[in-house]
Formats: sequence, structure tokens, C-alpha cells
Amino acid sequence: MQSDETDDGRGGRLARRVAVLGFDSVPPEILFDKLITKLPNLGRMYREGIHGRLRTCDPPITVPAWMVMMTGRNPGELGIYGFKHRRGFSYNDGYIVTSANVRARTVWDALSDAGRGSVVLGVPPGYPVKRVANAATVSCFLTPSVERPFTNPDGLRDEVIQAAGGNYIFDVTFRTENRAEVKKELFEMTEKRFDVAEHLAKTKRWDFFMMHEIGFDRLHHAFWKFFDPRHPKHVSGNEYEGIDLDYYSMVDGRVGRLLPLLGDDTVTFVLSDHGSKAMQGGFCVNQWLEQEGYLSFVKRPEAPVELDKAEIDWGRTKAWGWGGYYARIFFNVKGREAKGVVEPSELEAEKRKLADRIAEIRDHTGRRMRNSVMEPQKLYGTATGDKPDLMVYFDDLDWRSAGTVGHDSLYLFENDTGPDDSVHSMDGVIMMSVPGRDLGGREVKGARAEQVAPTIASLLGMEPRAAGFAGSTIGEALEAVRG
Ligand SMILES: [Zn+2]
Repeated sequence: MQSDETDDGRGGRLARRVAVLGFDSVPPEILFDKLITKLPNLGRMYREGIHGRLRTCDPPITVPAWMVMMTGRNPGELGIYGFKHRRGFSYNDGYIVTSANVRARTVWDALSDAGRGSVVLGVPPGYPVKRVANAATVSCFLTPSVERPFTNPDGLRDEVIQAAGGNYIFDVTFRTENRAEVKKELFEMTEKRFDVAEHLAKTKRWDFFMMHEIGFDRLHHAFWKFFDPRHPKHVSGNEYEGIDLDYYSMVDGRVGRLLPLLGDDTVTFVLSDHGSKAMQGGFCVNQWLEQEGYLSFVKRPEAPVELDKAEIDWGRTKAWGWGGYYARIFFNVKGREAKGVVEPSELEAEKRKLADRIAEIRDHTGRRMRNSVMEPQKLYGTATGDKPDLMVYFDDLDWRSAGTVGHDSLYLFENDTGPDDSVHSMDGVIMMSVPGRDLGGREVKGARAEQVAPTIASLLGMEPRAAGFAGSTIGEALEAVRG
């Protein structure tokens, strides 16, 4: 990348500056297939830039997906498999992933080492905020409150609050039946994020600018059944039928205001960390494991309860699972778990046997689900940190994994952790525009999340491997900028 042929007079860089608008959970089916013709600014990027599907990591979850994009490392290398992790081999002890769990270098770390500036607004996991010499950073939606330190440098705090009109909003409560309140807060939060983005774009010295907006994800979770006629619970004519267009249009207007502030020499990306789709239901993984003889209770719960509140007979339990967009399965192994029963020499055979049974699971209509079972070590090549023994997607992720027990069926048609209408899917989006150039709306094929950091590094004139990003680049993006 630092050969003469890529040097166009900008010191080996293809782009003087790069900006990323990170739109959490935006799927190609909504942005490209449904709304793009109604969005003037994002529509122009689509028609005059390049665009395509961006395959996310396994699992398709916000934490780790943004860090996969910004470090070029897969979840096994990062040791991050979701928001929440089991601590070691304990039965009940867990922790929420924070920025401290990310030890790999990000794009802005590499730039900072080279004395170059970045703006990093809300990229998860971004709390507690890290000290990076040449970055203006605002922590992410996981930040508990504005009362805690949330900016780097500290002095940026007052600017952020002022730019946001007195109160900055990290996130909204979205698993609630009070949809009117969610809608109000959602729009307010996103407007404030763009207010702050505009302020930072104008006032900070940066070669790399990135903002993250969680509002799309909250819109999808809270309102999917209202705006998607294909959702099993959709009622036509409901008052939120057009809320997807309303929200995306509001963002589009703000993008139209932000782009000129990013400068006319900036290559700009729109990226999402995974897609979203209608939730079909929740599959009660632990009840199924009990039914199959893997999990035993001292006393069977009679009403729905979290698994760790139930009295489990560990001496007769071979495996249990965690809920979420996907199921994490843990085996109860002798010498590893305190009351382990599976012989370590039998673990591999037990995993295979259970995977075979999971492949046979049927849905509530008797149709065989399209389940996938993965082993972290095989999936990632290396699997550090607190990894599960098996990772399971139910029915291509159309069904969540429900971890609670005490239901009278294996199939739930409400999320067991609160009102929620959508699940995550594997494809997010990528769009890229180059100032002053019409790229004709070419489609990028086969782009993957871990290629994002090496691609941005290359655009900014850093040799990706030397900068710490081992993966391949998105060739079409580099070619398009090279022209
Ligand atoms: Zn996300």
C-alpha cells in the first residue's frame, strides 16, 4: 500500500481523511430494498458511491461486532462472545464486557501512535472511556450516566453536554410496552448524537472520524412488528406503521447536514454491525436440555424464572444453556466445573452427540429448524477468554434462545426478557462515497466485518500489517478510491 502506484501525492494515502457513520443493526432489506429511494442523502451515497452487504462476525451482536470491524480481529481472537460473559467455569458468576476487555489495537490507536487525530463518538464497547493521546472520544450506550467520566480528554465533557443542549443521551429503555415514550426518547437521543457529531467534526483535528448510533437497533427491537407487514404479529393500519421511514428520514436529514462538515476530501462510509429481522419466537433451550436428559432440577420451577434462580441438581446435569440471540452451551465437566459430571475424555464425543440432537429440533409446527452448532475453537482458529463449549443458532437466528425455565412449552412467542419484536441477522450494510466522484452505485460483494480496519488503514496510508491489522482488505473499496 505504500508503493509508488498508490501514492497520489497525499503521502502514500488514498484518502486524506476517512469518516464512518456507524448505524447499529441496519439491515440491507430495510435500508437498500425498502427505504433508499425515499432518503435523499443516503440515497445519493447509494447511487453515486458503492454499496453492498457486510457480513458480520459470529455471533452477530453489537459487542463484539464493532470491535471486529475496528480491530480486524475475530471474536475468538478478541475473547468476546457477546455482551455478557460467564466468569471462568463458575455456575452463576458473570460480567458485562467493557472497553477494558478489548486489548487489540483499534484504527484510532494505530493513528494516535502515528501522531494522527481521531474523533470516536459512541463506538461500543466504549465505557470506561480509554485514554488515547490523539483522539477525542465519547463513550458508548453502555455508559451508566453522564455523572461518570465519559470523554477523553476529560475536558471534552462540558463541550458534549453543551452541544447536546444540556443533556446528552446514551441510550433509551426499549423493552417496554410504552412505545410512545420509546419513540419520543429515540428521536431526541439521535438528534443529540448528531448535534455532538457536528460539533466534533467542526472543532477537532482528525484524520479519522467515527460516530455510532444505537437508535436504529432500538427502533428495530421496539417497533419491528409495527412496520414490517411480514412480522407474525403485524396489525395493518397501526399508528407506528411508518415509523421506520420517519426515523430513517430524520437520520437522513442529519446526514445531509453532517456530510459538508466532514469536508470535501473525506472518504465516507456507512456501516452496520449486523442486520435485523422479525423474531419468530424464543426456543426454551434449558427446558429442551431437561427434556433430553442433560439438565436436572432438585425441584422443577413451576413459574418462569431465570436459570440461576432455579434449583439445579448439578450432580445429574451434563449441560446447560444461556439465552440471547444465540445459545451458549456449557458442559459440566469433571475437574473444570465445581460439580462436574462429564469426563474430560468424553467431552468431544458429548459435544458431537448434543450437536446431532440439536440438528433434529423442530419448531411448534413440526418443521425441522435450520439450526447451526459451532465450536469456538474450530470457528475462529483461536478462542481466547470465557468461551462457551458450543454456540447454537436456532432456525437461522429467527428464534432467540430463551434461557429461562418454568414455561409450559418449549416455544415462546414473547421475548422472555421483555417486549421485543426483532432478532439479529448476519448481513449488515456497507456504503462508501468518494468526494467529487460518481462511482455509479456499484455493488460490493463479499465484504466482511474484519476487513474494515485493514481497509481504513490502507486508505489512510498505513500498511495494515505493520499497523496491527492482519486481515485482508475490501478490494473494491480501495479500487474505487484509487479510480
Ligand atoms: Zn448492533
